Amino acid sequence: MKYGALEAGGTKMVLAVADENLRILARESLPTRTPEETMPAMIEFFRKQEVDALGIGSFGPLDLNPISPTYGYIAKTPKLSWCDYPLMPAFKKALSVPCLLDTDVNAAALAEAKLGAARGLKNCVYVTVGTGVGAGIYCEGQLVHGLMHPEFGHILLAPHPDDPMPQGICPYHRGCLEGLAAGPAIEKRWGVSAKELPPDHPAWKMEAHYLAQMCVTALMTVSPEKIILGGGVMSQRHLFPMIWRETERLLGGYLAPVKDVSALIVPPACFPDSGLIGSLLLAKMAKEERRA
Ligand code: ADP
Ligand code: ZN
Repeated sequence: MKYGALEAGGTKMVLAVADENLRILARESLPTRTPEETMPAMIEFFRKQEVDALGIGSFGPLDLNPISPTYGYIAKTPKLSWCDYPLMPAFKKALSVPCLLDTDVNAAALAEAKLGAARGLKNCVYVTVGTGVGAGIYCEGQLVHGLMHPEFGHILLAPHPDDPMPQGICPYHRGCLEGLAAGPAIEKRWGVSAKELPPDHPAWKMEAHYLAQMCVTALMTVSPEKIILGGGVMSQRHLFPMIWRETERLLGGYLAPVKDVSALIVPPACFPDSGLIGSLLLAKMAKEERRA
């Protein structure tokens, strides 16, 4: 048995093949160009590897409603050449194997829940803070889908009173989580890339405040047993203690059984492959005809 995985990102496509124990046998990375340029190379890779099933964790938004005529399509996305592209149907047709598609962050949440930081738990939220902010939600042992899929990166936040850019930069909502706390928002606010900001810069206190607001919202809604924070911005590990302290402050003692959030808000254990491993798990589910 060979499982194929595709982690489809806006800048690169990461492909892998694994055996039935999810040991990776081959992997490849391709730049994301147009579907006409990128799809044939990906199909060729999976054909050569003779995969028995394919799991895809993709940038979104995606149509994940199995009874929709456009099930498995990428929906309206700023990556214009991929707008309305039938991503999963195209692979199904070309490879004739079972395929399962989910968001990249839902795939990452699945990997962390089955094999990583939330192993053995039934509820977790995986958040990536990078070029955008995205979140996958695993609840009661299942990935959450509904009207669409969670778009937790666009929850609305209260601006910090000292924020020099309180209006945010999301083209849809201005000051949503992504508009205030993703890498480009940090760069716009301070005029320097997040990578270059020293740990004592006021940027981090503000970032911790926004991410703590997100953690409180997650805790108060889906009640995760772990909140896993990944993505480029979270490689600034000094952010974790700042987020713990700020989350506790904002909770105000309300979640009484939670005394110390440091065990609750953690980095990914499958880093940097959470999305890819999650996609392999989707392939396994596709083969077993289970829905994520
Ligand atoms: P993507 O979200 O595109 O998949 P990343 O998760 O690496 O990729 O996110 C890129 C964003 O994260 C950029 O805005 C960049 O400024 C920021 N970033 C990347 N690495 C770091 C770092 N070490 N420290 C702070 N910010 C970083
Ligand atoms: Zn937004």
